[in-house]
Amino acid sequence: MIDLRSDTVTQPGPAMRAAMAAAEVGDDVYGEDPTVRELEARAAALLGKQAGLFAPSGTQSNLLALLTHCGRGDEYIVGQQAHTYRFEGGGAAALGGIQPQPLEMVDGCMPVAAIEQAVKPDDFHFARTRVVCLENTHGGRPLTAAYCEAVAALCERHGLILHMDGARLFNAAVDGAVTPAALVAACDSVSICLSKGLGAPVGSVLVGSADVIAQARRWRKMLGGGMRQAGVLAAAGLYALEHHIDRLAHDHQRAAALAGSVAARFGDDAVEVATNMLHLTLPGDVYERLARHLAAHGIRVGRPRWVLHLDVGDDDLAAIQAALAAFPA
Ligand SMILES: *Cc1c(COP(=O)(O)O)cnc(C)c1O
Repeated sequence: MIDLRSDTVTQPGPAMRAAMAAAEVGDDVYGEDPTVRELEARAAALLGKQAGLFAPSGTQSNLLALLTHCGRGDEYIVGQQAHTYRFEGGGAAALGGIQPQPLEMVDGCMPVAAIEQAVKPDDFHFARTRVVCLENTHGGRPLTAAYCEAVAALCERHGLILHMDGARLFNAAVDGAVTPAALVAACDSVSICLSKGLGAPVGSVLVGSADVIAQARRWRKMLGGGMRQAGVLAAAGLYALEHHIDRLAHDHQRAAALAGSVAARFGDDAVEVATNMLHLTLPGDVYERLARHLAAHGIRVGRPRWVLHLDVGDDDLAAIQAALAAFPA
């Protein structure tokens, strides 16, 4: 099966498994797992921050940031379609008493003027606006440097904290040929996923100042995220940071090539591509038929968002293109 549903479906390969098997471990709740500490330090250095914290998921990592930055009755400004608001079970509200202020997104981001308008005055009628949460990439779309700078300047003006949900930040960095640290220089905290395009089986890292990470570590323990010999998992993350960042360019190239084939078959308006994702805009019944046709050729797709990743090579791409060409009109 070729699986285009998500870049979370990747399997750890033999070299990554060997690194996991060989990992030096200790009790990380005692701060004694050298592999976890190395992963946290490596991620922090890559992103230009003081410290890092290994978390079991991106959902928890984003929640740790919000719990650290906000108290009960505070609010964070977030995109209506952003993962942190829409796909994380309302954790910040349920567990932290933190009110989301969701904003409609335009071309994958919240308009700066809309963010500015949503910042509440210092008045006891209102929740205290504390955080702006961005997402890079969003649906594969990278944020522009100019946009990030404008939001950072707004945060500066209003004394707000800037958090980046960087689940796929490395895709944005590779796409823009910039360092990941440059993309998040103005952010107070950043969450990255090791288990998306980077191909690790488990894990995220939250990075920020030493103070932010120390507080997040308390929250992680409280949420049940204190893990013991987690170096076995951290070793996969280290391997991913070492070997799987630059190769994201191949996913982006294959996504562009596949988008070309979709456009050739269905027209230019049928597909949009950004970094490792394709968004198809075929009529529902046509898409249903196409999905069944592809399944019959051993290609699994979910919603009309197709994602290229580590486990889709050039032969797989050719097979998908052949199946597309054979789709009956
Ligand atoms: C996957 C993802 C997360 C975190 O998800 P987990 O499945 O909890 O690791 C956060 N933000 C975005 C944009 C994501 O795609």
